[in-house]
Order: sequence, then C-alpha cells, then structure tokens
Amino acid sequence: MKVLALQAVNCISCGAALENFQGVSETTCNYCGTVNKIVKPVSVDRKKAGSNLDTKDKKSFENICDILEKSMVAGNYNEAYEYCNKGLELDPTSSDLWSNKAVCAFWKSMSLLSEDKISNTNAREITTFLAAAKDADPDNEHYKETANSISDNLYIVTKFKLDNYTALAVKFNLAFVAYGANSLIDTDRIMTSVVKDYLDLIETSYDIAEDKNTEILKSLISEIKGHTARKYVTEANFFQPPSKDSHKETNLAHHAKIRPFLKVDMLVGKIKKEETDYVDNIEWKGTPQWVKYFMIACVIFFIIVMILS
Ligand SMILES: [Zn+2]
Repeated sequence: MKVLALQAVNCISCGAALENFQGVSETTCNYCGTVNKIVKPVSVDRKKAGSNLDTKDKKSFENICDILEKSMVAGNYNEAYEYCNKGLELDPTSSDLWSNKAVCAFWKSMSLLSEDKISNTNAREITTFLAAAKDADPDNEHYKETANSISDNLYIVTKFKLDNYTALAVKFNLAFVAYGANSLIDTDRIMTSVVKDYLDLIETSYDIAEDKNTEILKSLISEIKGHTARKYVTEANFFQPPSKDSHKETNLAHHAKIRPFLKVDMLVGKIKKEETDYVDNIEWKGTPQWVKYFMIACVIFFIIVMILS
C-alpha cells in the first residue's frame, strides 16, 4: 500500500494552504492555529484491484485509477469521487477505492460545512464507505488511519462552527438565553436547525473513528447539560436546579426535537461501551445561584422602599 503524495492541503477551519504536511500525520495551520490531521488518500493497488477483469475492462479500470489518483493529489475531490464510483462499478471489492471514496466524501462534507450547508447525511456516508473498505480487506491498515483522521477533523471543525455560530446568533440576548429565560427575539428558533445538525455531525464524527475518543461524547453531554452558550433545559421550579423530575425544555431543545435527558442517557450508554466504569459527573446547569439571590434581594429592597415611602 502506498500513500499518495498530496500537492496541497487546505486547513479544515479557515481554508488556508497548509505547510509541512508531507509525511506527517498532523500539522498546525499558520493562520488560525487549528491542528489538522492529514487525511491521506492511497494509491490503488493494481495487483489486487481489478485483477479479475478481462483485458479490455482492466485497461479502462487502470485509466480510471490513474485519473482518480491525479484528481486526489491535486485536491479535486468532487471529480475524484466520481472516478471512485466508476472504479467501484468495475471492481466493488477494492478496499483502496472504498477508502478513497470515504476521503472524497469527507472533503465534500468539509466544503458543505464551510458554505454552511451542513449535511449530516453526507457525513454519515463516510461510515458506510469505510465499513465497505474494511469488509473488502480487513487487513487494510490504511483504513484505520483514514477513519481516525477524518473523525478528528470533522469533530474539530464542527465544534468550532457550533461555538462560533451561536456566538453570533445570541449576541443580542445572550444574557436572557444564558439564564434560561426565553429570549427577546426568538434566537432559539433561528439556531434550531443548525444546532441540531451540528450536534448530529459531532456524534457522526465519533461514530466514524476506529479508535473511539469518548471525549467527543463527553463534550456533547456538557453541551446538552448547559455548559456552553446554549441551554436545552431550565428549572421548572425557581428554587431547584434542573433535574430529571423537575425541568423545562427550552425553545431550542423543543424545536430541535432534542430530548435532553434521554439524549444524555443515550450518550452515557455509548461511552460505557468503551469505558465500562464511566460515571457521568457533569452537572445540569441552571440559573446560577447568585442570580437567584440577586433577584430575591432586589424584590426585598423594592418592598422595603415601598413600605418606607
Ligand atoms: Zn486554518
């Protein structure tokens, strides 16, 4: 198996051309500081792939592989994707072709993400292609590295987009949303579709990896429990923090059809498959205590002023 020497790789976060990416598994972008895992396409092993084809088909198969490799090296992943399909029509058992198709699907997802046309369906395809690569050749060591590097990149860029998207969307009434009240303008509704897609993408990035990084799922749990700028539950009772028995879903959770407590249970179950003794200690975050005390103090102050005047 031979890894193709790429001519250019762009940063997954900012799109700038990366330097020093040859022969390494990761490199830091000089512009935005994002650590990029280098996703490496492979040269299709012509001794294995297409070996059962007759002379005529074998010839066109080799042509397809040549064009495919040139496209990938040059970073034309849309074109390369089409040639992976053409090659797979002739030989659907080529692990290298499936693996390269996963790489192409990854870069296609990245371009959708950068245009804010998120598609979790598109990213989910990657899992299917990687599974086909593994099925076709379980000893293909390239498969594992591809899966892990795609997973890392997808997570990094989706998390970045999620955090920055919200920063803009809730700019005007962050205080209202952060403390669990319904917002002045309905930013929850504006955020809904995007946030749901980002959360799904983050989970997909976990599913793609061969070496499972449970930190990805733990970051999702802390997201849903309210440790970011977004809130999915608030307290139903002013004096008690949100709990399974006493909570209200926010507009965001409601419109995005995220059942926060069920979702957390599901994520914990998924982590336990990797870490059997995992205990979820992340707290549900409601309105901070000091805000409550401050509000009570204001009311008391107001009453005293009323009595004295
Ligand atoms: Zn960058």
